[in-house]
Amino acid sequence: MSTDTNNTLVLFSGGQDSTTCLAWALERYAHIETVGFDYGQRHSIEMDCRPRVLDAMRESNPDWANRLGEDHVIDLGVLGEISDTSLTSDAEIRMNENGLPNTFVPGRNLIFLTFAAAVAYRRGIKIIVAGVCETDYSGYPDCRNDTMQAMQNALTLGMDEPFVIETPLMWIDKAETWAMTEDLGGKALVDIIVEETHTCYLGERGKRHDWGYGCGTCPSCELRRNGWNAYTG
Ligand code: ZN
Repeated sequence: MSTDTNNTLVLFSGGQDSTTCLAWALERYAHIETVGFDYGQRHSIEMDCRPRVLDAMRESNPDWANRLGEDHVIDLGVLGEISDTSLTSDAEIRMNENGLPNTFVPGRNLIFLTFAAAVAYRRGIKIIVAGVCETDYSGYPDCRNDTMQAMQNALTLGMDEPFVIETPLMWIDKAETWAMTEDLGGKALVDIIVEETHTCYLGERGKRHDWGYGCGTCPSCELRRNGWNAYTG
């Protein structure tokens, strides 16, 4: 097994942010693998989008096709069982008393990164790419840069491997994410993000907007739409 530091594992959900991160990694590293988590989301649309996005990325760029390796899907159904949130049940999306939206799945990114590192360890990969962002998210504490730094240290200590967590979207907003998409893959990649990725919390894919599919009103659609309008405006 090669332990080339150019090998990278991208946390890939099939959404806008992780697809942008995947393109970012494909432009930088020689070999990229992807990992996704099935955790009892209230809809399976993101999981359905993943292979279509990967196929579209391969078709859009022969270099990317050569660099894109294995896709790992991990069943984390237990996460849905232990968390009572509007992402894993039919509860209405609202703000909790602690100021966090009830879309927050406690510790989700910590668990994802731990499992991703376990996959990376086995595959001889040291670099893990995550599409977390502190700029215009809903204040999820497990998206913060400090959390990522702490996780990197914990994984490095706990597995005795020098893991690096890369977070290309950490300090940019959604408009800048759209612009980054265009820088990385031109209009073809913007089209893949619009047509194939999924971000809507409600799993709505009936209506096609300029910025893609979604209900248009949930917090996630709102962010994506506002970012698109700022990027195209
Ligand atoms: Zn929505």
